[in-house]
Formats: sequence, C-alpha cells, structure tokens
Amino acid sequence: TGKEEVHEFKTETKRLLNIVANSLYSEKEIFVRELISNAADALEKLRHSQNLDSSLDSGNPLEIRISVDKEKKQFIIQDYGIGMTLDEINENLGTIARSGSKSFLEKIEKEGSAGAKDSIIGQFGVGFYSTFMVGEKITVYTRSAKPGSKGYCWSTDGHGSYTVAEADNVAVGTKIVIELRDDCKSFGSHLEVDAIIKKYSNFVGFPIYLNDQAVNTVEPLWTKEKSSVTPDQHREFYRFIANAWDDPQYTLHFKTDAPISISSVLYVPEKHMESLGERTEPGVSLYSRKVLIQPKSKGLLPDWLRFVKGVVDSEDIPLNVSRELLQDNILSRLRIVMTQRALRWLEGESKRDPVKYNEFFLDFGQFIKEGVCTDAMYKKDIAKLLRFESSLTKSGEMISLQDYADRKKEDQKRIYYLLTPKRRYAEESPYTEMFKKKGVELLYLYETVDEFVVNHLREFQGIDLISADSPEAATDPLLQQAPVEGAGTALTETEAKDLAKWVEETLGPDVVKQVDVSRRLDKFPAIVLEHESPAMRKMMQMMEGSAR
Ligand code: ADP
Ligand code: MG
Repeated sequence: TGKEEVHEFKTETKRLLNIVANSLYSEKEIFVRELISNAADALEKLRHSQNLDSSLDSGNPLEIRISVDKEKKQFIIQDYGIGMTLDEINENLGTIARSGSKSFLEKIEKEGSAGAKDSIIGQFGVGFYSTFMVGEKITVYTRSAKPGSKGYCWSTDGHGSYTVAEADNVAVGTKIVIELRDDCKSFGSHLEVDAIIKKYSNFVGFPIYLNDQAVNTVEPLWTKEKSSVTPDQHREFYRFIANAWDDPQYTLHFKTDAPISISSVLYVPEKHMESLGERTEPGVSLYSRKVLIQPKSKGLLPDWLRFVKGVVDSEDIPLNVSRELLQDNILSRLRIVMTQRALRWLEGESKRDPVKYNEFFLDFGQFIKEGVCTDAMYKKDIAKLLRFESSLTKSGEMISLQDYADRKKEDQKRIYYLLTPKRRYAEESPYTEMFKKKGVELLYLYETVDEFVVNHLREFQGIDLISADSPEAATDPLLQQAPVEGAGTALTETEAKDLAKWVEETLGPDVVKQVDVSRRLDKFPAIVLEHESPAMRKMMQMMEGSAR
C-alpha cells in the first residue's frame, strides 16, 4: 500500500452530494440499481475494448458479484470490468455530475463503432452518489484494464473529503464496499437485496451473483429479434413478469424508432380477477436499457388497459432523472405511442381471429367498455373493439359496430340498440317486433354499463346510435307496418286518433305525457317510449332507498 492522498471534494460537488443523497431518489434501494448499472457499464466497456484489442483479457469472467452481510452491516459489489486509473478515479468519483460513461459514449460515437452504444446505461454522473443515502463509509478498490495499471483504494465518508492510495492485490475491475448506516442495515440482508436486484436489474446483460448464487436468470426477451422468440419463451417470460401461472392469450412484440425509441413486449393474460372483486393493478413496467425505471407504471397506458402485462424499454429515457421529470414530458409521449399501438394490436387480433377475439371480449369486454366511457381521446378507436349480440346473431355470437354499419340496410340511417337484461326478453319484447319483421338489425345490450357506453359514444363513424324505445325509432319509415288493406276490424284513422286521445286523458299527465297512433306494432297493442332508462331507474331506486 502506497502513500495516501487526501482530496477535498469540489465545492459544487459537496453541495450536489447533499441533494443527491437526500432528495434526488425517492427510494433508498435505488442505490443497488445504480451500482449494478455502473458495473454493467464497466463490463460493457471492457467487452468493447477487448473487441478492439484482444490482449486486454483480465483473466476474470464478465460478471457482477455482490455480497451482503447483515451482521457486519456491509454491502459489497465487485465487477471484473474496465476499472479506473488514478486520473479516472479523481475525475469520475471525485466530481459529481461527471460521467465517464458519457465521455466514453462520445468517444466511441466519434470512432463510429456501434454495439456498446445501446448498452451503456450511465450518462448523468450522479448514480454513484446514491450510495451516500445508505452508507456511512464508501471504499472503492479499482484497477484499470489498461496493461500495467496499478490498483487503488478510494475512500470517503461523504463529508467534504476523500482519500486515494495505491493498493495491492486489486483485481482488474472495481470493488465497492459500503459500510451501511444503522438505519439502512436491511441492505445487508440477502433476501432483501435479492428482491431489489430482481426488481430493478434482473435483465442486465451480465450475470449477477448474490452471495455466490445466480440471481438474474431470465433473459430480456424484448431486446431480441421478434422472429427468434418462441411461444414457449414468451410464456415463460410472461409468467415471470406477471407473476402468473396462466398463458398469455395475446402477445405483442414490437420496436419503434420514431417518434421515440421503444422495444416492448405486451401480453393479455388468459383471465383476470376483477369479476371476483379484485382490482387489477397496471401491469406494464418501464425500463431503460434493461434497467427498471418504474415498476408497473401507472402512466404508461390508460387505466382501462390495466389488464395488459409487459415491458416497455426506451433508451430515450434518462435513467437518473427523478420521477417528477419523467412524469411530465417523456412519459406522456410514451403513453401516446403505447396506447395507439395497443389499440392497433387488439383491433388486429380481432380481425385475425374473430372467434378467439369474441372469447376475449366476453371476459375482458368490461375494460373496453370502461375505455369508451373514460378515455375521451381514444373513444372512437376503442369503440371498434366493442362486440354485441344482435337480433341477427345467434345467442353467444357477437358483432362489431363496424359489422353492423357494413351490413345495415341501404336506406338505414341509424344503428339501433335495445338495452335488455337477457336475450330472451329482447326476443319477446314489443320493441323488437318490427325490427325482426323488417329485418332491421337490433343490437342487444345486456349490461348496465352499456347504457353509459352508448351515451358516451352517441355515434359510430357518423351513424347515430339510437335506442329501439326512442321516438326516432317509432317514426323511422323502415319500421312502419303497411296499412292493413280491407281488414274489417281495423279502426279508421279518426277512430284510432280518438282512441289515443281517450287513453291519454284517462291515464292522465301523471302517467303519460302523450299517446300516439303507431304503425310500428304487430302483435302488441301498445308500447312505452322515452321511459327512463333501466340504469336511471336503478339510480332513482337507490336514491329513494337512501332517502328513506
Ligand atoms: P454515470 O453512470 O451516469 O456516468 P455515476 O455517478 O453512476 O454516473 O458514475 C460516474 C462515473 O464513474 C461513471 O461514468 C464511470 O466513469 C465511473 N464508474 C462508476 N462505477 C464504475 C465501475 N464500477 N467501474 C468503472 N468505472 C466506474
Ligand atoms: Mg451510473
């Protein structure tokens, strides 16, 4: 061991140290992610340098070894990466907001060599300082992979100064020893750290060992070529990220570069638990360069798509920025791209295999309907995903609004629906009678939420959605019975009008507003129009109930 030098941190570094240690990161556990990211960067740099100069073999495997000890209150991370020279130590660890990784990127960009570029994580030069959130003393042993380099020991308690000295028996690479603060000793627990590594760094491109056990064994599928991933691999990956045992019924694997670079895999599970009263939490996590940024992100997709599981990785997201910054700009751009892609995905699946999609809809339709009611921006696109039974389908068979629009009668100007609790009721309903007789298709809407869906939509591609019990339906020429010729028992027009007037007066204004003669009915003597809707009625009953 050589002579020890004492250095003061630069003034701005001192000031920033405080900010980083106390307020940049919302959770202390983030330091594990930052150290692993740095180790992975160092390994990536060594790999890159080895590609250019094969004599740079450090003699150790390209891996990351972490050991923790609760008794000793220690967290140690060792990588066999590129290491640091004395100059690099002073520059990169002695100065906050100084990223050796960023300079490295700039350098290889100038050289025009690709490869490492997409894999380097660091760029802000603040990650290392997150160790001060948990450590009262940080010691770094490092030796550069450059031939003939010496080993060094760098050490600080994070208050004002650090020491550097030459050190013997230092392997090429970097070892960081953190003496944990008393209130942070849980980061010396194997179980806890195992969970943190799995959470944030499970897909880092180098093996990670914790107390000699391999931690990250699942591959980051989304980074692979789409055609090289088998359904079995997707199933395994889905089960891992969703913590589930079923199979995904739909899988989407895609990459885009514009307007923002994204690699993503998304899954629709076989089933969901909301019908059992368990609310589904968002299931898509945000990564940047294989490192977790936001687990099960709430902002990545609209809430109605919470049944989707998966991963979104965008290298455009700076890893080290705080959550608030992320919320505002990049996340909202990501959300737009992701939402549009998810919509196209589901629509594509519905066209590819309508029977399978109908199965999906029976189970997941409630989310789609929620989307129509809550997502004003995309409700028109979401509406394409709706499916309903109708007077022309068999029981259990469903059609889309587009199907309806495509096959409706030439002179038909509306999409008709009937809110009805059951198919049988609809079939026997006086409202349905003339639709059946005239072959005008009538959608059957069975669920309470359907009324809100049609109220929110009002139209589909410019065609009004009209209820079968509305006055519009009553006067639609398509739904009129031709006058019965020469039927001796039929009333004359005047007789009919007189009868209507008599009924109106007899029932009185408390019961009916108006009574009219209709040519819409066949077997039924009368129908009620414009009554309050089933959902309204339910609401009124509830209000009366609570008023009592
Ligand atoms: P960033 O990773 O954003 O560059 P950090 O504060 O995490 O910022 O690290 C600062 C710099 O310190 C890195 O850019 C790198 O040059 C150097 N460094 C940190 N950890 C290691 C390591 N394990 N091996 C080699 N260099 C490292
Ligand atoms: Mg870093």
